[in-house]
Amino acid sequence: MKFIVLGSGTSVPHPQRSSSGYWLETNGGTLLLDCSASAVHRMARENLEWANLDAIWISHFHLDHVGGLAPYLFGTKHAPETQSRIKPLKIFGAVGLHSLIEKFDKANDYDLLEQPFTLEIQEVEPLEKFEILSGVEAVAVDVPHTNESLAVHIRDKDDKTLVYTGDTGFTKNIGTLAQDADLLVSECSFFEDKPVETHLNLADAMYLVRYAKPKKVVLTHLYPEWDKVDFEKEVRKFSPPCEVLQAKDGLRLEIS
Ligand SMILES: [Zn+2]
Ligand SMILES: [Zn+2]
Repeated sequence: MKFIVLGSGTSVPHPQRSSSGYWLETNGGTLLLDCSASAVHRMARENLEWANLDAIWISHFHLDHVGGLAPYLFGTKHAPETQSRIKPLKIFGAVGLHSLIEKFDKANDYDLLEQPFTLEIQEVEPLEKFEILSGVEAVAVDVPHTNESLAVHIRDKDDKTLVYTGDTGFTKNIGTLAQDADLLVSECSFFEDKPVETHLNLADAMYLVRYAKPKKVVLTHLYPEWDKVDFEKEVRKFSPPCEVLQAKDGLRLEIS
């Protein structure tokens, strides 16, 4: 698997960190994990084959995770690069995703569901296995953020695994889901003091890392307060059992 950070930030505009989006190349095709408005152009900026994308995973319906879906579909509907595309695009997310996309569509006469290719929207239930890409298995669990928020576990054809938390408060469920994963991509919105219980701070994330023992971790969804923090020094204080990286827009990892 190849993993590329498109946006390591949040809903707060930031000069270096755009909003959520992660590109994943598997043996079964390519997947976009969350689709902020900035992620749409970040794909092109990273020279990724945005017109050939196989599937999109939406972790929850906050606009820094789903706000690029309508612009992306508006792009694929009209761009020269997608006019001869035949293979379907699949969009996965919690119950309510279909209705949300219809509402985006009905905000004006966009006709986003009519594409040169087939658009398949699949709502997934927690703990029900589904095929997110050809031969690539996924399962989602509920996380405490919004009602529909889901973390997802992805197993590639070669058995490499990735867990993406999306936005979440602290729950041991993530530690269970990420058990021995090859890569854990975890939100770590705040450094120490959390203004809300529906996000993680560094101590929460490091607890989950010690519990899950993944092979590698990327901490992301970083609010601007992280700009003032010496990330590596603070992470070292927790003596993590594996490498812990701070997400940056453009970070590329090979999971092999
Ligand atoms: Zn968010
Ligand atoms: Zn959120």
